[in-house]
Amino acid sequence: MTSLTSLTLKAALDGLADKSFSSEELTQAHVAAVAAAKPLNAFVLETPEKALEMAKASDARRARGEAGALDGAPLGIKDLFCTEGVRSTACSNILGNFVPTYESTVTANLWRDGAVMLGKLNLDEFAMGSSNETSAFGPVTNPWRAEGSNAKLTPGGSSGGSAAAVAADICLGATATDTGGSIRQPAAFTGTVGIKPTYGRCSRWGVVAFASSLDQAGPIAKTVEDAAILLKSMSGHDPKDSTSLDIETPDFPSFVGKSVKGLRIGIPKEYRVDGMPPEIEKLWEQGIAWLREAGCEIVEVSLPHTKYALPAYYIVAPAEASSNLARYDGMRYGLRVDGGNLTETYENTRAAGFGAEVKRRILIGTYVLSAGYYDAYYVKALKVRRRIADDFDQAFQKVDALLTPTAPSAAFALGENADDPVAMYLNDIFTVTVNLAGLPGMSIPAGVDANGLPLGLQLIGKALDEGTLFSLGGAIEKAADFKAKPARWW
Ligand code: GLN
Repeated sequence: MTSLTSLTLKAALDGLADKSFSSEELTQAHVAAVAAAKPLNAFVLETPEKALEMAKASDARRARGEAGALDGAPLGIKDLFCTEGVRSTACSNILGNFVPTYESTVTANLWRDGAVMLGKLNLDEFAMGSSNETSAFGPVTNPWRAEGSNAKLTPGGSSGGSAAAVAADICLGATATDTGGSIRQPAAFTGTVGIKPTYGRCSRWGVVAFASSLDQAGPIAKTVEDAAILLKSMSGHDPKDSTSLDIETPDFPSFVGKSVKGLRIGIPKEYRVDGMPPEIEKLWEQGIAWLREAGCEIVEVSLPHTKYALPAYYIVAPAEASSNLARYDGMRYGLRVDGGNLTETYENTRAAGFGAEVKRRILIGTYVLSAGYYDAYYVKALKVRRRIADDFDQAFQKVDALLTPTAPSAAFALGENADDPVAMYLNDIFTVTVNLAGLPGMSIPAGVDANGLPLGLQLIGKALDEGTLFSLGGAIEKAADFKAKPARWW
């Protein structure tokens, strides 16, 4: 059983293909691992019966010679993706026991290719957060612990359940979403690989909206190759999302292992921020050395508007959130707390249903969109956003990709930043720029800190050039040879 759950997605698909084991056996092993991992709080809903039913159907398809690209592989689904007939909550009380009557396009693509659903994964409420502590189901605990300590660490957020589940070997891969870093930062905190593709690569249809111009789906996986396999399935044009790009999906896995010789890698000098731990600085230098050894040319570049990215993000994202979340009024679905009149019912429902961080975002968003402040804040933030995208355009005239750290620290303790929203927002300093510019970004585990906790490096690519990121990510993965695993305590 242990050996089946420790496989990579690729190894598991190979094992299914050569009939070393069935999907039913593989799924059973993962269902048991999920059930045994309750202390992580990674899953908010387990669907073992559905998983075994899907596994049996997969085995039957394979026997008929009709297996798809992911046939029989058990995955976890972030609870921001609507799943038909299966409770979908965005980890908010306001959605209550909402059961969608439709399937998100991304998950539908995974099932089309034969994947098996183990259940729904925990996240920060409406994906707002960097530590998973805003979830209505309580935080996820990182399977990693600092050496010599039993303190509970955050797996990062908002896709903390996805990252923890992959790191703990209780699913072969997971869906996640990234509005300002929610795939990459949790991947960095858990020693997993995460990629946020170019805006428009994955359909947003059926994904609960946070900030629509920034939200993108992507995978969290055990290896770069696994991430490529998953992203290929998840991607594709969808007429149901007006921002979905009508373009071919490249064969992402074929880019992994390709030579990176001659590629030009930019090192943005503005990412050397004050107070960054020396270990992260060292890891970045190490990453530069690895790529140089692999034949890349290293070029210093400047992204001069970087320092305005975080404030711009924390205007644009709440502005869009305040508009998107207006739909939760207790009238159509989810929670309803009746009042004496219509306004009171709205007020009671929203007061009871939303958590503190979500309320904070709605207040900020409503404020920056209000008539008197719209130009001063919202319009200004949009101008900054344009400048940030222009910075990347300039840099990409000279280089093929950029290399930076993923996050300014390793995983921190649960509770450590919970009362200080600004300290929490600083986690996103290296990741939000990528969302503001709509570019692809990937986090690859590259080393551990002095306490044995994983650290990640981030690759940023040109729009639609995920292929180059998979080649470079593969090169870093090979050089880093990151094999550490969290010691099992759960
Ligand atoms: N941590 C960021 C936020 O709280 C990003 C979240 C995300 O990417 N969903 O908004």
